[in-house]
Amino acid sequence: MDKRIINDLSANELAEAIAAMGEKRHRAVQILKWLYQKGAASFAGMTNLPRGLRERLDERFIISAPRLVESIRSSADASQKFLLEAADGALVETVLMEADGHRTICVSSQVGCPLGCSFCRTGDGGFERDLSSGEILGQILFFKSGYLPPRRRFNIVFMGMGEPLLNMRNLAAAIGILNAEEGFGLGEKRITVSTIGIPDRIRELAAANPRFSLALSLNATTDAARKRLMPAARDLDDTLAAAREFARARRARVTLEYVLIAGENDSDDDARRLAALSAGGPFKLNLIPFNEWEGCPHRRSDEDRIERFVALLLPTAPAVTVRRSQGNDIRAACGQLRLRRRSRD
Ligand code: SAH
Ligand code: SF4
Repeated sequence: MDKRIINDLSANELAEAIAAMGEKRHRAVQILKWLYQKGAASFAGMTNLPRGLRERLDERFIISAPRLVESIRSSADASQKFLLEAADGALVETVLMEADGHRTICVSSQVGCPLGCSFCRTGDGGFERDLSSGEILGQILFFKSGYLPPRRRFNIVFMGMGEPLLNMRNLAAAIGILNAEEGFGLGEKRITVSTIGIPDRIRELAAANPRFSLALSLNATTDAARKRLMPAARDLDDTLAAAREFARARRARVTLEYVLIAGENDSDDDARRLAALSAGGPFKLNLIPFNEWEGCPHRRSDEDRIERFVALLLPTAPAVTVRRSQGNDIRAACGQLRLRRRSRD
């Protein structure tokens, strides 16, 4: 029989698979703990399972783990980027960021991205495929196996390669295990999904008792300007209405991300429109100075412009933060390690 990758099963699917093997329910809980809390690399090592069950698991399933291809440390801050290889050779980027004692893992949801935003290195590199839920979780297991001290808390942001809302099933399965007490046991405040904004998908998530935070990549304040930067952008009003629904369902604010690009979206009028469309809403604003990359004509707004932009926002806009350093040069390079590798092959 063909072996299945056990990490690709949601918590429910694992429970069903274990029940179908005639085993008691709590065995599934034990297996989840072995896989995600202890990072077990083999069934043989799952010592509180009966030997017979370990052997039968071994006949049916594989435990998957990505292989490290390359890592780079950011010169500007304490972030580190890793290029991981999936079983089929696909290359996946993951970043570990550290600031003020907090660790954040920036994970990918797809290999590349099909949406082609003009400022994004990942989009520029095209799209290969979705990541399975096991491959999404594999990025976090990779850190747990060597880069994170045991029992240290960390945050997860889906801001690596890909558009998470184009990979809903695998995203949901991965988040289920990130949340589950017997899985990674992360609190829902520690997980953030960043999206270009697909209204019907946001509504679908809102209706399903979401246990994670949402960040919406707004990046411009009119439909025309958004479309120019993000050809796949959907209707702005509808997208914001969906984000409000999510905020209501989650009883938490949605972050509006705004990459500041010189001459594209950083004028005084842009700031006033951004203030107006976010005022009074269940939002937080996160301004991200554009990170330049070779081959991209866009330029980062200069410091004076950023300051003026923030000053115009402050009287009316909700909480505003500017992402100054964390992972900056690394984020600029998002998609870059993978592309460099590919061109070498
Ligand atoms: N596809 C999702 C998640 C991945 S991109 C999304 O678009 O939200 C994560 C964030 O990185 C987005 O807010 C995006 O606007 C931002 N980003 C992409 N390229 C960037 C660059 N060169 N400089 C700064 N931010 C960038
Ligand atoms: Fe895809 Fe997000 Fe990059 Fe746009 S910004 S191309 S949606 S990864």
